[in-house]
Amino acid sequence: MVKAKDLPDGIRCLMGKHDGPIVVLLAKTHGDELAGGAVVETVLASLPSIERGKLYIGIGNPLAARENKRFIDTDLNRSYGKSPPKGYEGARANVLKPLLEHADYLFDIHSFRKPAPPIVCYPGEDFSTLEKLAIHLPIETIVYGPGLWPADRDHIYADTFVCAKGGFGITVESGYLHDMTAVQGVVDGLHEILQLLLGTSGASVLGQVTHLKTYFRAVENVVAAKGFTFSKDWQNFETVPAGTCYATADERKYIAKRDMCMLFPKAPASIVEGNEVCILMEKQFQKQ
Ligand SMILES: [Zn+2]
Repeated sequence: MVKAKDLPDGIRCLMGKHDGPIVVLLAKTHGDELAGGAVVETVLASLPSIERGKLYIGIGNPLAARENKRFIDTDLNRSYGKSPPKGYEGARANVLKPLLEHADYLFDIHSFRKPAPPIVCYPGEDFSTLEKLAIHLPIETIVYGPGLWPADRDHIYADTFVCAKGGFGITVESGYLHDMTAVQGVVDGLHEILQLLLGTSGASVLGQVTHLKTYFRAVENVVAAKGFTFSKDWQNFETVPAGTCYATADERKYIAKRDMCMLFPKAPASIVEGNEVCILMEKQFQKQ
């Protein structure tokens, strides 16, 4: 357990009077995610007290956040695996890991690098908790499934690390970097979720509103072979029809076996041989 005096830089802890779950709410795992930062700041500013459990809340990557940069040395959200990288983010991941490994719930709030509506990503198996919590968020698109893990199944992302340790870890992409359109809705949804989990006495009351959900199953985390090039400038959620050659490499073609949708396609400058380059998903079902 993390003692108050040992709290990582940029993280606060709110304690309830009674036993309860440990909840971690983070923003700015990538330091330039202003909308995600606004979500967590707004939740914190309007959270008088919690009844039970503990809430760890704050900034994932404080140094990069102070410089409004995505990262200092390496991507923090690739640093929670079995061998953390060297440099600032590797050290930061080692500081956050003791907190995350005891977390019952992680809400890791990010922002997209291209304009897009908000989404929820959940790499775990607890689908009923996903439905129970996601219903509070005014976010239509829910992505889950094995494609949210790297091909080698190492828990390099914060949400996969929490899921691997037996907790419930989700990532919320709250919209484009500095686009504040979705911020208040996500804040209201998080207040409802925190009220449910921790008995917070925040401003909101548990809502009766349900939001339409569209579920996508992430089936493949695609790794870049030598010479990887996308066949076009794919957009998030763009359809990749069965049989489409969506990318090529020196010694292979990447062909969609079924009708798929594209998620997180990397920009050419960010493509690294041997690293993940996009995720392919199947559209599943809609639910009110
Ligand atoms: Zn991010």
